[in-house]
Amino acid sequence: MFLFWWTVMGLFVGSFLNVAIHRLPLEGESVAKPVFSRCPKCLHRLRWYDNIPVVSWLWLGAKCRDCKSPIAIRYPLVELLTAGLWFLAAWKGGSERPWLVLVWVIVLSGLVVATFVDFDHFEIPDEVSIGGMVLAPLVSLLVPSLHEHSHLAQALAGGGGVTRIAALETCLLGMALGGGILWGIGWLGSKLYGVDAMGFGDVKLMAAGGGLIGPWGVVAALMIAAVAGSVAGLAGMLRFLCESRRRAHARGRRDRWGRSIRIARLAGRYIPFGPYLALGIAIQLLYREHGAFLGFFPW
Ligand SMILES: [Zn+2]
Repeated sequence: MFLFWWTVMGLFVGSFLNVAIHRLPLEGESVAKPVFSRCPKCLHRLRWYDNIPVVSWLWLGAKCRDCKSPIAIRYPLVELLTAGLWFLAAWKGGSERPWLVLVWVIVLSGLVVATFVDFDHFEIPDEVSIGGMVLAPLVSLLVPSLHEHSHLAQALAGGGGVTRIAALETCLLGMALGGGILWGIGWLGSKLYGVDAMGFGDVKLMAAGGGLIGPWGVVAALMIAAVAGSVAGLAGMLRFLCESRRRAHARGRRDRWGRSIRIARLAGRYIPFGPYLALGIAIQLLYREHGAFLGFFPW
């Protein structure tokens, strides 16, 4: 029952996160205004029975009831992803630690919003990043078991259970390291290449994440993010490469491979880093006892 209710709540929160992802980057709209969910195309208010996570999307055949414009499959996918993450958190935390589970699901939901807004707009909403920087020290004090697997927190507590003060110290060190490393990379990138390699949104997100996973969690999360980001970047360039070859072929032009690769490298150069940071933070949040890469580098 415990798992079931957390998962169902995750489904409905996922529906709300879709609204947040859509509205947070827009001027003049907030998650609370307008109160009711609307079709983004025809602005018709959604009836309650057209707003049930996943079910309504299937029932309506992926179309708005009023204007018949297609509803992207991403809406039900975000709902399922959120429900899955809430299930994982409840399963991992267990019914005897509801407060830890609550902190985890709040953080994971914030990471879902950061991920999709960054994919869409190449920015991370301050509501998530600065909100997380405020939340991290608070929840470290209130729920010190958040840092129970941190070797640093254990050492700061002098053996035994992690104390509130040790948890807060671990949090602040994690924020400093997480924000510091990304700020440093950005500074170095702008000195070496004269471009902004790292957005300030990433710096703030990693500062918030560092406060929740501690300094060693930051190192592990950055390794995960670097690997995942590189794989995604290469996949993106490969897609651009195939696309540009296909277009040239369709026009009856025979491009040299060198030219195609140059175009793909330029087109695929900008990928958002936030989603991969969020992935690393999420893994470290739930599986910190296994260290980086789920135990490949155990510390
Ligand atoms: Zn509509």
